[in-house]
Amino acid sequence: MKFFSLTQEIAIDLGTANTIILSNDKIVVDEPSIIALDTRTDKMIAIGKEAQKMHERTHDKMRTIRPLKDGVIADFNAAEMMIRGMIKMIPNQSRLFKPSMKMVIGIPSGSTEVEIRAVRDSAEQAGGREIYLIYESMAAALGIGLDVEAPEGNMVVDIGGGTTEIAVISLGGLVAYRSLKIAGDEFTQDIMDYMSRQYNMKIGEKTAEQIKFHAGAATTSLPKGEEPEQYTVHGPNRSSSLPMEIPITYVEIAHSLDKSIARIETAILSALEYTPPEIYADLVKNGIYLSGGGALLRGLAKRLHDKIQINFHVADDPLRAVARGTGIALKNVDKFQFLLR
Ligand code: ADP
Ligand code: MG
Repeated sequence: MKFFSLTQEIAIDLGTANTIILSNDKIVVDEPSIIALDTRTDKMIAIGKEAQKMHERTHDKMRTIRPLKDGVIADFNAAEMMIRGMIKMIPNQSRLFKPSMKMVIGIPSGSTEVEIRAVRDSAEQAGGREIYLIYESMAAALGIGLDVEAPEGNMVVDIGGGTTEIAVISLGGLVAYRSLKIAGDEFTQDIMDYMSRQYNMKIGEKTAEQIKFHAGAATTSLPKGEEPEQYTVHGPNRSSSLPMEIPITYVEIAHSLDKSIARIETAILSALEYTPPEIYADLVKNGIYLSGGGALLRGLAKRLHDKIQINFHVADDPLRAVARGTGIALKNVDKFQFLLR
């Protein structure tokens, strides 16, 4: 007979695009942040990848919801259902015995009191007893392996689905931060707009995201060897509804993303403007770290380096940097003063 520990400890990266849960240093859940509901009963019928498959393919008896928008909970009930559902997805859980839960959850650095309350309440509703919150930028820095408590400055730029979080960290605190609502979702929207404007083709989010993965780039001049192949897009003509097939190059996509990326550059420069000179010198020495799914955009680190003239490093496995950091925080809740209880 197996005994269950009285408290279960989990770390949650509750992202606009993806939710990742760690338990015992292992990623036990990694799912898109989306649920599908029955429209009549409001009961959850699917969660994560299953719900993602239904997204943009539903009829009037069901709907999909992404409970987070721009990094914060936009639909409280849906968020609670999603957190509860994802916790149930953790393997090897006792069905009979519900341990009390200790949780560390990431929140965006610009969160208001009300937004923080919403995360805490939905975590409590989902079974959390001892809840700690951590700024996602701090978690990203921990996940990258930086010594956030050292008297030394580091900058992390996390480009997620809804927001880009920019933070300068030193001595266990945020020295400067910026949060902007330009990130992966906006890039996807830029691509949809481009296809519509340039080719009169109507595409959904999923197709646009596939274009971003296959032919996305932050610069029109990728080094030889890093250039992706042409990508063929299928979709209807907006006016005639006849099927079209259009090959797309990365250069076109880089053009379509240019304005959004320029806004991220401006925000980074603005954070640098507020960075005290000694810390600025540390950043020049250490370089700036990129995390979040947006960090995977081809040529982004190079473009930022060309513009800002400081080195940019893409974190290992950038989609999971924040999650890894929340896991590290979970093991150090007594030590890290910067955790919010
Ligand atoms: P969040 O923390 O908001 O959930 P993530 O850090 O999980 O966001 O990143 C999700 C975003 O990253 C999505 O917009 C997704 O399209 C984008 N993304 C993932 N992989 C890539 C890639 N290879 N190239 C460009 N964007 C990517
Ligand atoms: Mg994130």
